[in-house]
Amino acid sequence: MVEIVRRKRKPPILTPSTIPCLRQLPTINVTWGCTLGCVYCYIQGYANYPGRDRIVLYENTAELVREELARKRKKPRRVYFSSSSDAFQNAPEVQDVSLETMRVLLEAGVEVAFLTKGIVGERFIELFARTPHLTFAQVGITTLQDSLSAKIEPNAASPSQRLSGIASLTGVGVSVAARLDPLIPGVTDTTESLVTLLSALRRAGIGDAAASYLFLRPQFASRAPGLEAITGLCRNVDAWPYQRFLDGCGGGRMISTSERRSRFELLQTLGKEAGIAISACRCKNPELTSVGCGIAGPPPRNERASEEQALLPFVDPARDQGIARK
Ligand code: SF4
Repeated sequence: MVEIVRRKRKPPILTPSTIPCLRQLPTINVTWGCTLGCVYCYIQGYANYPGRDRIVLYENTAELVREELARKRKKPRRVYFSSSSDAFQNAPEVQDVSLETMRVLLEAGVEVAFLTKGIVGERFIELFARTPHLTFAQVGITTLQDSLSAKIEPNAASPSQRLSGIASLTGVGVSVAARLDPLIPGVTDTTESLVTLLSALRRAGIGDAAASYLFLRPQFASRAPGLEAITGLCRNVDAWPYQRFLDGCGGGRMISTSERRSRFELLQTLGKEAGIAISACRCKNPELTSVGCGIAGPPPRNERASEEQALLPFVDPARDQGIARK
């Protein structure tokens, strides 16, 4: 049972994230903490992480957004949910605040982009069906195995619920991409597992997916409750080299560049066979790609790159050796 502590948040709320890919966009977290409890969730490494059994709900989020939009001379083009929580957490109180906040934005003509591993319920589908051209969804999914999913993302939607969420969203005209993140090497990225997952995603209407590998930030490795579950699944995490990510993203321990390269190449080949274009997350793989993975939804038409993402040909061997283990 998760305790929900209600708080009023202070303005301003429509402020951009510090994450490079989201820097241009205001990002909204309606909670601090997250009920979905993914074992790898990096927020567990923060000193003020509220714990797995407690979240803070910012109950006045929609009200603040409404006031700020009314005051602003130039409205943001798009708002992203959520950089360190999930707008569709399995708590009705959280979903009420998310729904109302998204409604305020969409009714003001502001695009809503979100990434979720939760259940996108009927109320949300009805809302998005009114303005599908303003809504951009990403659904996080790395496995179709219920038992594995329950182990790594204990309170998230089951794989079949996520697939039916994708089908409901595409059914009302929303643009949906999949996010295979974080892949766990040797666990969720085996050929068999990926082939099954990609063909199910294609059947649900997915044509684009972004991917990235599990990484452990130093603070996570020192205090996260989920670490034990990860080391139980993936026994060689201690040997992963420390890698620096894109400027502004810090770094963490992760499989080496050369290993990621060959695994991404396999994934892209399998994606092509299934009819899904796969991009690697640039923030965590700057040595492998210079093109973004569309975490915040597709760029406006006039800013879209004409080429598909291809892995960069050059690999810096210094990165493979790891930079200053922490
Ligand atoms: S859904 Fe995202 S924010 Fe929530 S626990 Fe999982 S990784 Fe963390």
